[in-house]
Amino acid sequence: MNNPRPCYLQIAIDTPLNAVFDYRWQCEDHDRPAVGQLALVSFARREVVGLIVGVADETDVPVDKLKDALAVRSQLSPLSQKWLALAGFAADYYQRPLGEVALPGLPKNLRVLTTVALDRALKKLAKLDAPHDATPADMPVLNPRQQAAADVIGGAQGFTPALLYGVTGSGKTEVYLQACAQVLAREPDGQILILVPEINLTPQLEGNIRARFPGVMLATLHSSLSEGERMLHWLAAHQGKARIVLGTRLAILSSLPHLKLIVIDEEHDPSYKQQEGLRYSARDLAVWRAWQLQIPIVLGSATPSLETWHHAQSGRYRKLELRERAVKNAVLPQVKLVDMERDKPKDGLTSQLVAAIRQRMERGEQSLLFLNRRGYAPVICCESCGWISECTRCTSFMVLHRPEHRLRCHHCSLEMRIPRHCPTCGNVDLQPLGRGTQRVEEGLQALFPEARVLRIDADSTRKKGSAQQAFDTVHRGEVDILVGTQMVAKGHDFKKLTLVGIMNPDTALFSQDYRASERLFAQLMQVAGRAGRAGIPSEVLIQTRYPQHPLYGAVVHHDYDHFASALLEEREQAALPPYLFQALLRAEARELATAIEFLSMARDCLAQPGITINDPIPMTMTRVHNVDRAQLLVESPSRPALQAFLKEWMQVLRSMKSRVKWSLEVDPLDI
Ligand SMILES: [Zn+2]
Ligand SMILES: [Zn+2]
Repeated sequence: MNNPRPCYLQIAIDTPLNAVFDYRWQCEDHDRPAVGQLALVSFARREVVGLIVGVADETDVPVDKLKDALAVRSQLSPLSQKWLALAGFAADYYQRPLGEVALPGLPKNLRVLTTVALDRALKKLAKLDAPHDATPADMPVLNPRQQAAADVIGGAQGFTPALLYGVTGSGKTEVYLQACAQVLAREPDGQILILVPEINLTPQLEGNIRARFPGVMLATLHSSLSEGERMLHWLAAHQGKARIVLGTRLAILSSLPHLKLIVIDEEHDPSYKQQEGLRYSARDLAVWRAWQLQIPIVLGSATPSLETWHHAQSGRYRKLELRERAVKNAVLPQVKLVDMERDKPKDGLTSQLVAAIRQRMERGEQSLLFLNRRGYAPVICCESCGWISECTRCTSFMVLHRPEHRLRCHHCSLEMRIPRHCPTCGNVDLQPLGRGTQRVEEGLQALFPEARVLRIDADSTRKKGSAQQAFDTVHRGEVDILVGTQMVAKGHDFKKLTLVGIMNPDTALFSQDYRASERLFAQLMQVAGRAGRAGIPSEVLIQTRYPQHPLYGAVVHHDYDHFASALLEEREQAALPPYLFQALLRAEARELATAIEFLSMARDCLAQPGITINDPIPMTMTRVHNVDRAQLLVESPSRPALQAFLKEWMQVLRSMKSRVKWSLEVDPLDI
């Protein structure tokens, strides 16, 4: 028998310090901990769970400084080298310490001090088997284009990135499912990762997967799971038991030892980008992961992001096209522009739109009115002195929520009762200005008293399960007119929906954000795509004051190709992404001047050829919750040059003593 002797564990801890720490651990040779295991250690006077990234016989740390690790979580098999490399890449690329990337990527229950939850989940999982007796639902016959795409994806070997570019309703999901079937049949242990923007908006997909692959264990990973569920599903993936993992962006960091195919649905969707903490792009990490594992990856969209389109045009990604709707006789809806200068809207609705809704009512078909603004009115004002309901803590307005009798700030959640009179002049006649979904709902109900009107937005679906209930009501045909925000634009297949009215999309045309038109186009195509999916002729009416705008022209002709090519040309001429690489340094302080001062120091502390550091500026929405915010944009035509600069810059910034809270975002989406 060997006597226990010490080994030294290098452990990554979730802390902003850019370091891995050494701990001592007494063990015998046969039970030496492995890289990729978790360990409980004391750090900065508290106990935390860290990740073992190295095991050595020696250490440079002096004996009197060295602490013993408290426990090794030996019941959990180690995370693989490949997974550690993925976390390492993300940490490097997004300029964060490894511990801050790897540990928050794990379920919370793995990072608590006791192993009660882990032991319970392991026990439960050991008893869990995929059902064997169910018969799989029939595979529909694909049209030749769909079949060709499914064969390319399902049969690909090695790193094969592909863009599945298909109009709304063209049957992209069916292509994914049949490609999955091929991979599952070919690879006895193989796992598949399917990413979707928001799981609650695509419940149909989960149902389809279960029906199609009843003998395969499916794990879902998204933010609305309980911690216990998340742990169980994560473990099922980690142990290789779950062969299909369906999740939102956070699932990209799950442990999948036998991953053979990655599917990213609606790859252009901004929700693949995490907007706080580690601001990563799940889509970009997925492409890296596919390259690392040398496996195929498919990115699907009717309106690909310009980055992805650029790769497809240059041949780096394979382009698979679906130009027709999959359902027999289903054609794309006819898109018409309604000139609001000629047909003046009443209560936000032009006479053409009202007539079109009436027609649907008479035929027993459904209409959808899309307005991306919730609440009753974005602001209330006093007509006698000009007072408007501004938020006292943010550079924004308090939104009127009439059914709830409240004013609410959508940025800091400040709430108050609707004032009875103007706070400055006492006038009792306060008027709502502009309109949100609640006001549209009210107007429609007045106009069509016999209609069943349903509003679906973040306010109407606060209760768990209420969104699903609302969508079910629409599917059952118990709704005549649906009013909604972007929540209704995604994924749904409403069979009786033949009219989509888009109320006021113009504001995005003149946004400072150069990505605004790309996003508007994607949004319009997506919401327009809800109409006519079951083969009944359908139309889309866009109310606008700018019917001549080329963006609307492209929407009318369902012409993403030309629109995207023109935008790419503009971006190239203006030297903007994807022809330029950016990082954004943000600073927050009680006073704007303090934030700007910090950013000015940051601007001046390091210079490198090929790197442009712009001047610090206040963010468009400067104040949120009593904090002022400013930003500094760094740009380079070379990604490696930018990465090298950022690495050095972060070291300098971390050593600077400052009370300002700051963060860096690589490849920012909102500037
Ligand atoms: Zn007043
Ligand atoms: Zn506010």
